[in-house]
Amino acid sequence: MTSPTPSTVLNHIGDTDRPALDGRTLDVHNPATGELTARVPRSSGADVSHAARVAREAFGAWSLTPAPARGELLLRAAALMTERKDAIANVMAREMGKRLEEARGDIQEAIDTAYYAGTEGRRLFGRTAPSELRDKFGMTVRRPIGPVGVITAWNFPVAVPSWKILPALVCGNPVVWKPSELSPESGHLFAKCLWDAGLPPGVLNVVHGQGDEVGAAIVAHADIPVLAFTGSTAVGRQIAEIAGRQLKRVSLELGGKNPVIVLPDADIDLAVDGILWGAFGTAGQRCTATSRLIVVGSVGEVLLPKLVERARALRIGDPLDPTVQVGPLVSARQQERVHAYVETARREGGQVLCGGEILRTGALARGWYYPATVVDKVAPGSTLALEEVFGPVLAVLHARDLDHAIAIANEVQYGLSSSIYTRDVGLAFRAIERIDAGITYVNAPTIGAEAHFPFGGVKATGNGHREGGWAPYEFFTEVKTVYIDYSGALQRAQIDNRVDG
Ligand code: NAD
Repeated sequence: MTSPTPSTVLNHIGDTDRPALDGRTLDVHNPATGELTARVPRSSGADVSHAARVAREAFGAWSLTPAPARGELLLRAAALMTERKDAIANVMAREMGKRLEEARGDIQEAIDTAYYAGTEGRRLFGRTAPSELRDKFGMTVRRPIGPVGVITAWNFPVAVPSWKILPALVCGNPVVWKPSELSPESGHLFAKCLWDAGLPPGVLNVVHGQGDEVGAAIVAHADIPVLAFTGSTAVGRQIAEIAGRQLKRVSLELGGKNPVIVLPDADIDLAVDGILWGAFGTAGQRCTATSRLIVVGSVGEVLLPKLVERARALRIGDPLDPTVQVGPLVSARQQERVHAYVETARREGGQVLCGGEILRTGALARGWYYPATVVDKVAPGSTLALEEVFGPVLAVLHARDLDHAIAIANEVQYGLSSSIYTRDVGLAFRAIERIDAGITYVNAPTIGAEAHFPFGGVKATGNGHREGGWAPYEFFTEVKTVYIDYSGALQRAQIDNRVDG
């Protein structure tokens, strides 16, 4: 396989592609081979100020463009994304290591979101309610807010940004977006579909660079009143603090430590399929990845040998090879971090049933690979039971019964996704009611969100907002209440008008 020449990606501000104002750049490397894939601007606060000013200038005309017309533009962009899906997927696989099939799924999620958001331009419903006074009408309308700062993680370079950017745009807000410095090019190609579809200049601006420079500048900028962030809980907390001082509207989608509970009556083969896909798909680098398996009673005796056999057989390698099932981790740093978690688990009494060593043989030595790893006998409260690993490492915990399993599921600070395998509908409903999570699957893995349902988590996974489906349109608009009095007389509400007796 010949490697393509590295790309040069530029910022896009207004209608112009441009380098960082001070000319600095960042390199992006293929995690499967270490090769240089792209060079992007390492922008600074000055580039963000420029983009924020341009977005602010574009706000007036965009906010007054009829919402159905804004939506039609997204529908045109969806058609372009469909045409360019394979090309963008190829770039994505090279720059961040996602298998091609999964990369195409990432872009398809954005296409689905574009179709949903595009038609939302014909809804954006307000409400009416009867007035308490005669000859008076009351209703609400939704108004755009202003430039939205979007900051996103590397692991879904197109899908996750689309969940924020497309609803923000159809609601009439311009956007200043910083893609992750680890997956900037595929994100840029997604944005290009919108520019090529005819988005007016200044409505979507992309500023590349590092989190502590570009990201921090977006968070602090006074002209950006709305922030939509996906990333780690640690960075999300910092953003909430800084943005809170300026009373910005902030949506945070953060980390997860997602459990699968398997009850003794479950279809074991179905559970094994789901756990493998949830834990080792995208090499475990999903916010919804299955990172804890909670086996109830003696079900582990049947399930674990099957799971370990299948995990050992997973084919690891270059994500461009269609026979490969698990690609690399995103960086050397992440590889070290994942391995450190396994070492800590060993010290804390966990038993590694498979994997657990960095792969350094043959072609795998060139990239940042880690094998599918299952660690049994992880104690509740231990490091591997509580902390997000973001790699192909599954912690197995043992529970006496369903209530004990739910208590273990709920012991972490996070609450994004969760799953239960059982044939007993009553027990499934008990789990749905009691697991602290934004998503619960029954007889399905923890991953696989659909674009038209709300997505997000509870506790330290976020701050109460949801993306996907109908949820984000509330976040990206302000409600205005309108009263129309056609009585021709002064009518006083909030005055006691009632005559007693
Ligand atoms: P990260 O927090 O390191 O970075 C996320 C983004 O924030 C990047 O663009 C980064 O450059 C930027 N950033 C870093 N420091 C910043 C700062 N001080 N100010 C502003 N921006 C800053 O996360 P990551 O490693 O890119 O992604 C992995 C994390 O994302 C995991 O915790 C994962 O669970 C989470 N994630 C959550 C969801 C979700 O929807 N809940 C989806 C995908 C990923």
